[in-house]
Amino acid sequence: MLRLPKFEVKNPATVEEAVAMMMEIHGEARFLAGGTDLNPNMKHGLFTPERIVALGGIEEMFGVGFDESGNARIGAMVTLAQVEQHPDLRRAFPALCQAAKLVSSPQLRNMGTLGGNVMLDTRCQWYNQTYFWRNALGYCLKKDGSKCHVIEGGSKCVAAASNDTAPALMTLNAELEFATTSGRVRMPLADLWQADGIWNKKIPHTDLLVALHVPKPAAGSRGAYGKLRDRGSIDFPLFGIAVRLDFAADGSISDAALCAVALQARPWPLKKAAELLIGTHPGQASFNDAVEKVAMLAAKQCRPMPNIPGDHEYRHLMVPVYTRRTLHAAAAGEGPVHHI
Ligand SMILES: Cc1cc2nc3c(=O)[nH]c(=O)nc-3n(C[C@H](O)[C@H](O)[C@H](O)COP(=O)(O)OP(=O)(O)OC[C@H]3O[C@@H](n4cnc5c(N)ncnc54)[C@H](O)[C@@H]3O)c2cc1C
Ligand code: SF4
Repeated sequence: MLRLPKFEVKNPATVEEAVAMMMEIHGEARFLAGGTDLNPNMKHGLFTPERIVALGGIEEMFGVGFDESGNARIGAMVTLAQVEQHPDLRRAFPALCQAAKLVSSPQLRNMGTLGGNVMLDTRCQWYNQTYFWRNALGYCLKKDGSKCHVIEGGSKCVAAASNDTAPALMTLNAELEFATTSGRVRMPLADLWQADGIWNKKIPHTDLLVALHVPKPAAGSRGAYGKLRDRGSIDFPLFGIAVRLDFAADGSISDAALCAVALQARPWPLKKAAELLIGTHPGQASFNDAVEKVAMLAAKQCRPMPNIPGDHEYRHLMVPVYTRRTLHAAAAGEGPVHHI
């Protein structure tokens, strides 16, 4: 049986207290939201924090609201199940709710939070293993070792961002509100990431994600999420792609955004591919032609590595398939795409 290591638990009532509790010890401390990723990782010996700062008592981090302009504020402690089922979020941000719906299993979506999903650690098949397994392998760059088993001779960890909601939030231009030691900071989600699988965020792990702000979508905006996975439940993405399509009054696409995940350390926006869709009309040849071009370009730009389970060449072959299907689903106001 895998056991949790010993640690102390703190239960702050405010975000300021939570940040202070992270800073006041010399050893490692970690925030705990739903614990669906942190707890298994601690059982695997990937983190051995002396202190856990549990976020369940901080009222400010719960709840979904819209301001008078239609911009959403989603507390970081809102669960994935609540995101998936929220009628206003479903109407405004279909790709986000579809992505939340495809995370793991109902039990984990009831416990797992949107904040925890955004702040999720990267994953790798050579790292997300028990201590015994990693010890037999000789460890790796990410923890306790000096080699990467994905890229021979590689000096940088390329563990994959595997959080399903991140690409959807990227296409929606979401912003993050953090509580830090020097006060509140708001930043675009697109600016959060760095290309380092050991820690793929530009902020320290002592900064607390308080809420997500998602701007009001353009009138008639549509979206969808496509997820390649081994089974119809539980599995992390082998490849994920989120799409947003905005429409002009004549029914043509006025703006588009695509973002992929489960490739490398950060979610991967496909800006050039998205531009090919602008001006085309779903239901007409112009859109179908553009979708084919986008699918081919996505295959060029998305190169899965053997960092997560699943044959990476098969994952690569599925990139244009899932890109194409997700674009058609978004245009039709359907989705998610997750055929197995
Ligand atoms: C079997 C299994 C299958 C899974 N499948 C998927 C999947 O298909 N797709 C997917 O995306 N995920 C999957 N997960 C991972 C996980 O369940 C989800 O990502 C979930 O959303 C994590 O949220 P949480 O609240 O449980 O985070 P936690 O486990 O509590 O925390 C995750 C990380 O984020 C940090 N953190 C949490 N909240 C905050 C905050 N507010 N501010 C700063 N840091 C914070 C924690 O310190 C920790 O490092 C799976 C996990 C398991 C065990
Ligand atoms: S990508 Fe390389 S260094 Fe990073 S976790 Fe995997 S094996 Fe370790």
